Amino acid sequence: MTTRVRFAPSPTGLFHVGSARSALFNWLFARQQGGVFLLRIEDTDADRNREEWVDVIINSMQWLGMDIDEGPFRQSENAEHHKAAVEALYAAGVLYSCACTGDEVQARKGDNKTPGYDGHCRDLNVARSATTALRFKVPEGMTTVHDVIRGTIEFQNAVIDDFVVAKSSGAVLYNMANVVDDRADRITHVIRGEDHISNTPKQQLIWEALSKATGPDLPLPVYAHLPLLVDASRKKLSKRKDPVSVELFRDQGFLADAFVNFLSLLGWSPKGEEKVSRAELISQFTLAEVNQSPAFFDVAKLTNLNGAYVRELSLDDFIVATLPWIDPKNASWSPADFETPWPDDRFDAERYRAIAPVVQERVALLSEVPAMVDFLFLENPPLDEAAWAKAVTGDADAGAILDAAIACYGEATFDAEVLHEKTLSFTEQLGMKLRKVQAPIRVALTGKSVGPPLFESLVVVGREEVLRRLQAAREVAGSTAP
Ligand code: GLU
Repeated sequence: MTTRVRFAPSPTGLFHVGSARSALFNWLFARQQGGVFLLRIEDTDADRNREEWVDVIINSMQWLGMDIDEGPFRQSENAEHHKAAVEALYAAGVLYSCACTGDEVQARKGDNKTPGYDGHCRDLNVARSATTALRFKVPEGMTTVHDVIRGTIEFQNAVIDDFVVAKSSGAVLYNMANVVDDRADRITHVIRGEDHISNTPKQQLIWEALSKATGPDLPLPVYAHLPLLVDASRKKLSKRKDPVSVELFRDQGFLADAFVNFLSLLGWSPKGEEKVSRAELISQFTLAEVNQSPAFFDVAKLTNLNGAYVRELSLDDFIVATLPWIDPKNASWSPADFETPWPDDRFDAERYRAIAPVVQERVALLSEVPAMVDFLFLENPPLDEAAWAKAVTGDADAGAILDAAIACYGEATFDAEVLHEKTLSFTEQLGMKLRKVQAPIRVALTGKSVGPPLFESLVVVGREEVLRRLQAAREVAGSTAP
């Protein structure tokens, strides 16, 4: 039987990293099994769904390279099918009509805090009307869920209340619609977050009831409930406190391959390795090896992993990957609320290409790139006063250093190695350390104390512009020199 899995998000908010992990595990499993990966947008909750969230899900999946074999389908398009299944179960006596309001149920229960419905209408044969809901008559006994990750989980049916499958408005609710669609889509494996474990016995009961009432007699899907994602304090990732939207990670300059690699490690570990290619993930993935314990969403680990992926890119790929932050006009997308620190017309692709190799070595996130290269595209890079103050304090005589640099760079060949050697020799003449000498030169050139290696930066900026910037700084230094 062909493996058929689905990712079935409800478009009720940002695309959460936990959802992305569920999507990924389904996708990996489908690809490994040579199966089918289907996307079903569960959009039946009209009050909470927003069309823009659907776009976010689809775009994010595309960004992460999770290609879809079937869909995207809309659950709402299947509404007639859901209603027909409800009617069939009602006709088969599996559902009953219930006229109770929530307040009435609460009043009957009094201090009894047992959640759920008390079964009041179960045997009353309440006539169906515009104010009655339909509830599932949960049979006596026990429902056993076999979960590949968690083993066998037994639920006493006595604690599963007679849940509503269709509201008085006729709207068919999640558990019912989800199962009707899984059956129609011939889903063989249900892989999703552990927050759905409590729905599973209900869905299993519906599945079996439909097999009997309408056929076909389909085998239950294999269930796999993925572990919770937690933050550094071992608390469930919070939508409010933690940066949990996939788009946010893309906007910060994480690479899709690194992000996919990281997501795959949330609950699973391919032979203890951390950096694993997509092809290896696909070949090694097994549901049975996914563990139950909460998975730490470790942003520091993700950032390191991203740095490793960034360093591995070819120069051309690195340049293309950074375009959204460097040359948005020529990029295929751009991060939200982002503007380059320089005016568009000052960007110079050749200069960028010249500095890119040394920048690539030094960034973990692509969004760090603009601040590292802005000195190339700004006429007068803003001076970081604190960096300047630090560069000219202590025993460093900034005036003398800049004078020596101006004299040297006025003559020297503009080649990184040559500039390095020449700088070393005037450093010796000054009786100073190279680090101390580089500091005011770097701040004069770039406005900052950190950035790409100095000598490569000098070469890319070019003699004329270097001398102009050093001279401008020399004038400021004049007043601070001892
Ligand atoms: N629409 C459900 C959710 O987003 C999907 C549940 C499932 O995968 O069965 O949580």
